[in-house]
Amino acid sequence: MDLKALWDYMQLDLEADRFSNEMRQSEKRKLLINQTEFLKKQQAQFAKVDSEIGKMEQKISEYKEEADRLSALFEDFTKENADIQELSSEDVANRLKTADKLLRAIENCEKQLSVLLKSAETAERAQNDIRKRAAKTKSEYDAIKKEYDVEFANDKIKLKQLRTNADKVGEKLDAADLEKYRQVKQHCTPPIAKLLNQQCTGCFMTLPIGTLRELKSSDTVLTCDNCGRILYAPD
Ligand SMILES: [Zn+2]
Repeated sequence: MDLKALWDYMQLDLEADRFSNEMRQSEKRKLLINQTEFLKKQQAQFAKVDSEIGKMEQKISEYKEEADRLSALFEDFTKENADIQELSSEDVANRLKTADKLLRAIENCEKQLSVLLKSAETAERAQNDIRKRAAKTKSEYDAIKKEYDVEFANDKIKLKQLRTNADKVGEKLDAADLEKYRQVKQHCTPPIAKLLNQQCTGCFMTLPIGTLRELKSSDTVLTCDNCGRILYAPD
């Protein structure tokens, strides 16, 4: 059997794998992934602040309604009190107390409103900052994406060429050998190991004499008992 051809095939196959791996490790690609993550976070943050602002607006409108209601009450109250001369001093005192309560309630309402309005303003500023940050990242992303698309298109051509080189050699191999190679490669890379000083150079285990003898005479692919790699003795 022709292990030399399988070995040569492996060099080309692994070269294509290495390049494919390099493509995945591309700095631009990593940057784009990071930026996508960042944009997602900004989006989530924006939505969170948005919902907070929504709640604040709801409360603001409730307090405004309450302030209007209290003001109307106060207005009605002052109209009723137009003719104060007819009241007893006790009634006047009671009415003053009521007026005072109403005014305090109105004041409290306005205080709450002012706090809420300030918070809403702060939240809107934060939202604006998020929007600016996201826009900046998005424009950076777009610029890098443009460059990356070119890089990726070129790399794809190169990878295809490397695969073709390997396939051309692979086509000439025995189908069963190639199948065995692929099976081993699923759990061991590189899938073929040379023998050196009776050792498997994949895992450095010394092979039993029996295996060595078999390797020289056998017509089938032999694998290392320890790591499962296909054994190749060049001489
Ligand atoms: Zn081994």
